This record gives sequence, C-alpha cells and structure tokens, in this order.
Amino acid sequence: MPSTVLFCPADGVHSDEWPSKLEALLNRLGLPKMGRRGDLIGIKVHVGEGKKSSYLGPELAAGAARGITALGAKPFFTDTCVLYRSPRADAVSHTRLAAEHGYSLESAGAPFLVADGLTGAYEEEVAIPVDGGKRLMVAGLARRARGFVVLAHPTGHIITGLGCVIKMLGMGLASRKGKLAMHSVAKPFIRRKACIGCGECALWCPVDAITLEKGKAQIDSSRCIGCGECLAMCRSAAIGFDWKVSSESLQRRIAEHALAVVHRREDRFIHVAIGLRITKDCDCMQDPGPVLFPDIGLLGSADPVAVDQAILDLIKERSGKRLAEWSYPKIDPTIQLAHGEAIGLGSRAYRLVEVV
Ligand code: SF4
Ligand code: SF4
Repeated sequence: MPSTVLFCPADGVHSDEWPSKLEALLNRLGLPKMGRRGDLIGIKVHVGEGKKSSYLGPELAAGAARGITALGAKPFFTDTCVLYRSPRADAVSHTRLAAEHGYSLESAGAPFLVADGLTGAYEEEVAIPVDGGKRLMVAGLARRARGFVVLAHPTGHIITGLGCVIKMLGMGLASRKGKLAMHSVAKPFIRRKACIGCGECALWCPVDAITLEKGKAQIDSSRCIGCGECLAMCRSAAIGFDWKVSSESLQRRIAEHALAVVHRREDRFIHVAIGLRITKDCDCMQDPGPVLFPDIGLLGSADPVAVDQAILDLIKERSGKRLAEWSYPKIDPTIQLAHGEAIGLGSRAYRLVEVV
C-alpha cells in the first residue's frame, strides 16, 4: 500500500504565501488531531550556521507554531547539539544563535529548546526491531514530546548525498552518543601530495586528531570520530574518505536512528520537506553554494521515507537531473531510503496528491 504524500507546488507562489501554505498543509496532514490543550509539541528545525548558510527562515516555522498554538497545545522549536566546533555545539550558544536567526518566542511564537540538553547528553536508549533489538541513543526531548512536526530543508550532502527528512530525524534528533555511533565508521585519510600544510583541518578537528608533521597533515585514526569536519574545511582537496563504505554505513545508521526516534510513536509525527532554495550543501555549511534549480514546493506525509523519495523524484522530473548530478555524483543518496524501507521506517512507494 503506497503512502500518501501531499504536494504543494511552488509554481506561481509568492514567498510571503509559504507560511500560510505550510499551515494549511499541516492541517491537511492531521495536525488538529495531533495534540490537545496543554500538550507539548516539538517543531524540528535547523537554525542555520553562518551568515551565508541557507537555512529556512523562521517565518515558515512560525506558521507551524501558529497552527499548534491554535489547538491549545504548546509548541517549541528544537534541534540537537552538533559534534564539530560550531555555534551549535552546546545548548547555550545554540539557543543564542537560534534567537539571532529569529527562532524565539518573541519572533516566531515558540521558544527554542535544545533536544539533547546542555552538552548533548540528555538522551534515551531505544531498542529497535533490527538485528535482534539494536539499542540506539536519541535525544531525550525527541521521545518526550506528545507530537512532532519535522520541517526538513532538502539539500545535497557531502557524505550522505541527500539531507532531508530521514537525516533530520536520524542525525538531527540523535544525542551526542548516537551521533558518534553513526560517524565512527567514516574515517578520513590525507592525500599527502595535495596537502599544503595550512593547518585548517587541525584547527577545526573537535578531538585534536590532526597534527602537522613536516608541513603535512596527519590523522591519528584512533582519536578520529569521523565527523567529517576536516573534509569540509580543507580547500585543497587533500582529505579523502572511502565514500562507498563510509557513506553507505552512515546512511544505514542514520535510517536506524530515525527509526529509533519514531519507533512505536509513528502516528505522532508529521514530516515536511520544504523544497525551496535547494543547494549543493546542507544548512550546516558556512557556504552551501548557490541555489541549484528553481523551487519545487512543499511535500508532507506521515511517512518519512515517502517524503524523501518524492522530493528526489520531483527534483529529477522538474530540474531534468538527479540531485546527485547537481551535487555529489559519486554518492548514492538512496541508500538511506532503501534501508529505511527495509527496517520498517516507511515506504518508497507513494501516491502524490497535489494540493493548492
Ligand atoms: S580527523 Fe576525524 S575527528 Fe578530526 S575533523 Fe577529521 S573526521 Fe573529524
Ligand atoms: S586543510 Fe587540507 S591542505 Fe590544509 S593541512 Fe589540512 S589537509 Fe592539508
């Protein structure tokens, strides 16, 4: 039985109209049944990183907050701490950044709360029906809220090829331990000939695994946590990953953590892909590159896998090329979808219903 994905196309829509379009889409997706008076309902967002980062502005998320408030429930914006050096690495600086970017009670109608606590250690262990009951660590708030609206901004991604709903759930709502478990298989190596010894990678490595020896970077793989920050910061293409193995393993683990977040609470989640201003790199990057093609629109469903499949299909249909051809051709971003389907996170088969 295919999942239903509602699609609000971008054709002819003015940017001012998106918040009310989102509100209407959420209502069609069952938001009014999600919460009662007093219930705590999370809105998973990404508040951006640097000035050039292409995160979704708070205007859209405010539309979701309005819809939840209208039920008498209590909305809050949320995200987790990241592993790398960033204004999002701890709850205090993350909350400050959120407020600077408009994600606050005053600006957008709901407070911003970090889902995994001050330093990423507020968590809950969840056993999922994979490999005889794998136990995974997810953010505490992800399991405590009565319901969740997940607002994902689809983009290309340097390791997983696609960052959309599955990644927003799996990586974005994992605790620090969960993130480390996902990244620990992705280890980088130095291309010595290309390395110019600038030291930028060492500066950003969160665990000081990189040193400079005789003008070349060197990685202590026993310390490396596989966060990929060095890869993102190197401007000389001197850091390599075993893409096939690393990307595949990471995508599979992300899908499993996504299942851990929603397990036994699937009906309490609404997943939306905001297919606007799609860039080569994700919202974590200081510079995600230019917008790749015209806006697609909003897609929403109760099924996270179906939303990700639908956005990939619509990108190909409307832009003439697959997302990978626009961004990272060597990475197959559908591994996370295929594994998600195999473990019961959702279905890649869907029925697209256009709404206006
Ligand atoms: S060496 Fe490892 S831990 Fe350090 S930035 Fe690179 S991937 Fe991250
Ligand atoms: S950032 Fe790149 S070029 Fe600079 S030291 Fe690190 S690996 Fe070498």
